[in-house]
Amino acid sequence: MVPSRFEYHRPASLEEALRSLSSLEDAKVLAGGQSLIPVMKLRFAAPAHLVDINRVPGLDAIEEDGGGLRIGALVRHNQVVASETVAARFPLLASAAPQIADPLVRNLGSVGGSLAHADPAGDWGSVMLAAGASVTLRSVRGERELPMREFLVDIFTTALEPDELLTHVRVPAPSGKSGGTYLKLERKVGDFATVGVAVQVEMSDGTIGRAGIGLTGVGTKNIEATEAQGSLAGAEPTEEAFAEAGRLAAAASSPSSDVRGSAEYKRHMVEVFVRRGLARAVEMARG
Ligand SMILES: Cc1cc2nc3c(=O)[nH]c(=O)nc-3n(C[C@H](O)[C@H](O)[C@H](O)COP(=O)(O)OP(=O)(O)OC[C@H]3O[C@@H](n4cnc5c(N)ncnc54)[C@H](O)[C@@H]3O)c2cc1C
Repeated sequence: MVPSRFEYHRPASLEEALRSLSSLEDAKVLAGGQSLIPVMKLRFAAPAHLVDINRVPGLDAIEEDGGGLRIGALVRHNQVVASETVAARFPLLASAAPQIADPLVRNLGSVGGSLAHADPAGDWGSVMLAAGASVTLRSVRGERELPMREFLVDIFTTALEPDELLTHVRVPAPSGKSGGTYLKLERKVGDFATVGVAVQVEMSDGTIGRAGIGLTGVGTKNIEATEAQGSLAGAEPTEEAFAEAGRLAAAASSPSSDVRGSAEYKRHMVEVFVRRGLARAVEMARG
């Protein structure tokens, strides 16, 4: 299928991109095009204007930022795979990045595009929820920073206003001894998740200080399993605590039955993955 007619804009600076988004009626940002172009070809979306941000400087770097990480919106999935900083200090992100799509999509698809697309089967949303990340949104009106849980609103819906651009993601440094991992069940390599679970654990004096848990593909958006997280805060890292968190996370999920599996099977996999992910993360934290 061929997309509907649109006007193509290629700003050379952030200011120009923001001016375009503010002045053009019915404009969409084009990043890697890995989700937007298929959606346009199927005519599920027919924006009048595309604002291509690929020539906008300053959006494509992974930088250390006060101990944490600042990931530019245009950073490709494969840049995260290759980042030494990520590999050394952000095991959750390092574990998730190579599991996203296939090598071709990873070369073009961007972290910002994935988050802005807000596909409940997208992997980055869950990872960023578990990591306690936030996003920075810019427009000609100014800048605001939102925690991931406020940014992701519903299926394919975020808190982005039509004139706003997601410029970067801030990932705080895990405190103390920490570990993290992403478990993804997929029918074949390169597929979207049947179920995905992101886990990050930060230890404090031998007990769990903070636990972050994000769920992929089991609701209308990436889900932060807040009750499961709460049950772990201050808890001893035992099999029983992991099992209880698994049960709470499964209860927080609301999967649908589809070609990838029944709702019951997916809920069960959430429970198993949370338990397994927590055990792996705590093992990592213990070194
Ligand atoms: C075959 C295939 C398999 C895939 N498998 C997976 C998978 O397993 N896991 C997974 O997570 N994803 C998967 N994807 C999706 C992929 O990760 C995309 O890269 C991602 O969803 C969108 O990123 P993009 O840069 O291509 O964004 P685009 O397609 O360019 O844009 C997507 C949406 O976000 C908006 N947008 C983009 N950037 C910004 C910005 N900076 N500010 C504001 N709005 C913005 C666009 O306007 C559009 O609405 C797959 C895609 C394909 C084609």
